[in-house]
Amino acid sequence: MLRFLLIAIPLCLPAVLQAEQLVRPTISTELEQKVIAWRRDIHQHPELSNREFRTAALVAEHLRNLGMEVQTEIAHTGVVGVLRGGKPGPVIALRADMDALPVTEQTDVPFRSTVIGEYRGNEVGVMHACGHDLHVAMLMGAAEYLAGHREQVAGTVMFIFQPAEEGAPPGEEGGAELMLREGLFAELKPDAIFGIHVWGQAPLGAIGYRKGPLMASSDRFEIRVKGQQTHGSSPWAGVDPIVAAAQIINNVQTIVSRQINITRAPAVVSFGIVEGGVRNNIIPDEVYLEGTIRNFDMDIRQQIFRQLTQAAEASAHVTGAKAEVTIIEGYPVTINNPDLVARMLPTTKAVAGEQMVQESPLVTGAEDFSYYALEVPGMFVFLGVAPPDKDPASMPANHSPFFYADERALKVGTNLFINWVFDYPGAG
Ligand SMILES: [Zn+2]
Ligand SMILES: [Zn+2]
Repeated sequence: MLRFLLIAIPLCLPAVLQAEQLVRPTISTELEQKVIAWRRDIHQHPELSNREFRTAALVAEHLRNLGMEVQTEIAHTGVVGVLRGGKPGPVIALRADMDALPVTEQTDVPFRSTVIGEYRGNEVGVMHACGHDLHVAMLMGAAEYLAGHREQVAGTVMFIFQPAEEGAPPGEEGGAELMLREGLFAELKPDAIFGIHVWGQAPLGAIGYRKGPLMASSDRFEIRVKGQQTHGSSPWAGVDPIVAAAQIINNVQTIVSRQINITRAPAVVSFGIVEGGVRNNIIPDEVYLEGTIRNFDMDIRQQIFRQLTQAAEASAHVTGAKAEVTIIEGYPVTINNPDLVARMLPTTKAVAGEQMVQESPLVTGAEDFSYYALEVPGMFVFLGVAPPDKDPASMPANHSPFFYADERALKVGTNLFINWVFDYPGAG
């Protein structure tokens, strides 16, 4: 038998090689088990935004053990590993975010978090309720695979482990924007960047992609409506900021419905806070309004900033009050490069399965992957993690204390990262 094999192998070699070329790179069961173990460890030790010290140390050690050039403490706790492939080629960046949320975990998984942290001066439970633990583990797995196949890798791969995607604590900066400002792409500018976000309410292994805008920009506005305090029985003796605020709320709602060209892109303006007054018969001095603006078009975003300011100021003015508007810009629109998505779609389908890859609807949530994708061509996809025996719509959404991820998705995500690197044009 042995003799037969020895003879047979050389004869079959060309065919075997050919077959191997058709077989997609995929992580071994052993590496998959490691990815799962990393995920569970990170899940059990979640850290809030800009406090990802343990996670960053774990990642940095892993990348160093793989023989990569590693940079740490970018934007506080960010880690970047650089892998130089054995062949010339492009620079590809892969990104995972590392932070958890001030959410008290209520799942019953054996590795659930019991961590207590501090957020805005309050003691809070800390949980990986957005699945960033999966992102980190998948990227660590991709790093291990690609480092182990360095000779076949054409070009350079940047592994970006980013802090504070959920937003830096008040008074701090962080996340993708700060990493870029600290020179993330200064020395090594990627030809393309890829990111994956797990999605609690999509079927296991399903991939949601979209060319162009995918996720909204998210901006906050504050309006201080200033009147003049007086007795509720004699409003003529003062200026009523409550009536002014009511008009502001109504008029601001006409921006999206009457002034935006909705055939270009949808938009949302919502008020979340209306505060004013202490007693039924006192007209207060001031009313405070706060809300959020979501857009899928960077020009429309600027238009809404202008029109919201105008609407608030003019509405207040006609009542004799004054409105002071402040717009606090958040994450920009996450825009996938259409050419990049088109070119990488066959790879994505080959890894995840043709039927599993579907165009995603627009998502009015925001992501700071958007900052990278404004600098270099980007592709950001969703990866479903709802168990197959459950109705995905009935599963807890991301940020829920019951957020649950079927770990079989880890293999899909890790293989996606790996195959994007191998199949990127110019990397072959
Ligand atoms: Zn989140
Ligand atoms: Zn997230």
